[in-house]
Amino acid sequence: MSPPPGSLLLEFQYLVVLDFESTCWEGKWNAPQHEIIEFPAVLLNLQSGEVISEFQQYVMPMEQPVLSSFCTNLTGITQEQVDAGVPLGTCICLFSKWMQHLCEQHKMSFCAAVPGNRVTFATWSDWDLEICLQRECTRKRIRKPDFFNQWADVKLLYKKFYRRSPKGLAGALQDLGLTFQGREHSGICDARNTATLISHMLHDGCVITVTKSLAPEAQKTRALLAIHGKKH
Ligand code: AMP
Ligand code: MG
Ligand code: MG
Repeated sequence: MSPPPGSLLLEFQYLVVLDFESTCWEGKWNAPQHEIIEFPAVLLNLQSGEVISEFQQYVMPMEQPVLSSFCTNLTGITQEQVDAGVPLGTCICLFSKWMQHLCEQHKMSFCAAVPGNRVTFATWSDWDLEICLQRECTRKRIRKPDFFNQWADVKLLYKKFYRRSPKGLAGALQDLGLTFQGREHSGICDARNTATLISHMLHDGCVITVTKSLAPEAQKTRALLAIHGKKH
């Protein structure tokens, strides 16, 4: 795609678009025990509109290791793939290494105070980073890197910009005259298609901004200690 109009004024030069798949069961949308089984991400260059790198890792669920047939039918992910996967903590380390390498290669940073190109996460809805990853890391006491604490919710930006509620990611693409490429609910395909959608939104003049920020772990601990200190 050609560069978006006004691309020199972009707040972010890159976006890491991610889309987790997790264990699931029919009719239980808000199951508290979701575990990530596919951890995919693509790096989108906002100036060129191109995906320039991809990460994908299958993750082994520990709490409920056997996938439901509903889950396999929905996501296309098999028991063999997750059995050969890595624990979530290992996956986060692998992802962080991929991220670090890209940050060096493209001179980009998640921190606004660091000179160079800026990058942040983008997801379709808040579910991936606010619910899924956050809850699983807390439950399993896995240290979550602070860069996961800010993102752009593409669904929210889409609704505000076009002033309509799309029927899922595929519906959002369809409304722009695009067709979902690959398999819906495959994490890597969902991430690639979200990146395509973002490129088109940018081209139409939508500004990509951070829509949600969570407090970093250290800040939460300090706040808890302060409350604790006050009580005693
Ligand atoms: P998605 O990114 O839309 O593929 O969804 C992410 C995760 O949400 C899936 O891996 C499932 O764990 C869960 N999920 C999505 N759709 C459903 C559904 N219809 N019923 C139950 N869980 C779902
Ligand atoms: Mg999703
Ligand atoms: Mg998905």
